[in-house]
Amino acid sequence: MAWQNRTKIVATLGPASNTSSMIAQLVRAGVDVFRLNCAHADHETLVRTISMIRQVAQKEGHAVGVLADLQGPKIRVGKLKNAEPIYLKRGAQVVIDATPGVVGEANGAGEIRIGTIYRHLARDVKPKERILLDDGNLELRVLRVDGDEIHTRVVYGGMLHQFKGINLPGSKVSTSCLSPKDLADLKVVLAAGVDFVALSFVRAPEDVVELRRHITRAKGDVQIIAKIERPEAVGCLPEILAVADGLMVARGDMGVEMGPAAVPPVQKRIIAMCNEARKPVITATQMLESMVLNPRPTRAEASDVANAIYDGTSAVMLSAETASGKHPVRSVQTMEKIIRTAEKSCYTGMGERMRRRPMGSKSSSVAQATVRAAAYAAYESHARLIAVYTETGTTANLLAGERPPTHILAFTPSQRTMQRLSLTWGITTRKIPPKRTAHALTVAGDRILRVEGWMRKGDRLVQIAGTIRETGLTNTMSIREL
Ligand code: PGA
Ligand code: MN
Repeated sequence: MAWQNRTKIVATLGPASNTSSMIAQLVRAGVDVFRLNCAHADHETLVRTISMIRQVAQKEGHAVGVLADLQGPKIRVGKLKNAEPIYLKRGAQVVIDATPGVVGEANGAGEIRIGTIYRHLARDVKPKERILLDDGNLELRVLRVDGDEIHTRVVYGGMLHQFKGINLPGSKVSTSCLSPKDLADLKVVLAAGVDFVALSFVRAPEDVVELRRHITRAKGDVQIIAKIERPEAVGCLPEILAVADGLMVARGDMGVEMGPAAVPPVQKRIIAMCNEARKPVITATQMLESMVLNPRPTRAEASDVANAIYDGTSAVMLSAETASGKHPVRSVQTMEKIIRTAEKSCYTGMGERMRRRPMGSKSSSVAQATVRAAAYAAYESHARLIAVYTETGTTANLLAGERPPTHILAFTPSQRTMQRLSLTWGITTRKIPPKRTAHALTVAGDRILRVEGWMRKGDRLVQIAGTIRETGLTNTMSIREL
């Protein structure tokens, strides 16, 4: 068996890729987690796509995770007449009318009126503020607000298509984080059994807590990835991280809301914080953007992917590249190769990094002490791999947090845990039948190590185990030969 890359790949599915055969090709090219964008898919498509992913994953024998991305309080332009784009000329006046049901058009007299899906837009903007359309490609300035009507002047013009995003960089959006559409989407994806739910435009920890409440009420068993893209969220990262299971550096909207220059330092901070908290972090958006059209990435893009890896990201993500681009499979292959090459170049670096990690942590966790000892022991004893037995994935996440240079194989009886660990750095998973004793687990694990060719008789391994059926009781590490 060949080891996979440590850094995981998240690929967004869309019209260019949501068929069974494309999904299979993408998995073979190296995708670990598929993202479904609820903003763009109807419920039937969501359900069908999720079941296709599960079928392909089973056939390919790969634990694939599914992440459903809720659109959150994303404000959008409404429908345009005949779905035809409108040209917004610099200096022209545009009225955004938040009255429900407004269909946008440019009438004969040259007056431009557009609608929005967000009922309270007029309440949330003030004169002189900027309104950005289409990821900031178009810019309006507010002249005055009159009831539901926002009168604006075009600062940067261009073509406006219907349903494009609206960003309000200067103001606080007062809507609840979960719209009725989000709640309906959530119900569908929970029933379909996704592994992760991502929440867009998180502003504060309360948004995550609110989502968690809905998930618990629906008896859902999913992890929450908070997408960091609003300046308010960047202002309370530790609090959000404390209540979320992982974060996404959502660089697309972050770049619109905070300006592109703010993105690199925020990215580094988010990755460092997630590493410290032993939670997964996804670096997202425009990673190989030019491959939406071209068969080759720019050198800057290759460098961006590699640098996210050097920073310590758990996963890198593809959006339009795989959802609607011309080269979905090639984009994944390209990303895989960049990851492989970057990881090879910093392999010893990882050992160095591990050794330089300061001893001692604030927690007095036995599990933390055990995985750290295992990581060092594997490095010092030149072990071929670290085998970790994990029920919920917690121990595997802790071990990954040490970023050991030794490969990790996680054994678990739970399909759910396998799928969840698809987002965790450096973890390859194998299923073992549930056993009652630690000895029986070891026998089952060793058998897989031998049969699948991970190790030969006489090879050394480091093993981490705990008391069966009680999580948080990881307390044993041993060095032995197979
Ligand atoms: P989106 O989120 O693709 O759902 O907008 C990611 C981002 O904004 O970067
Ligand atoms: Mn976004």
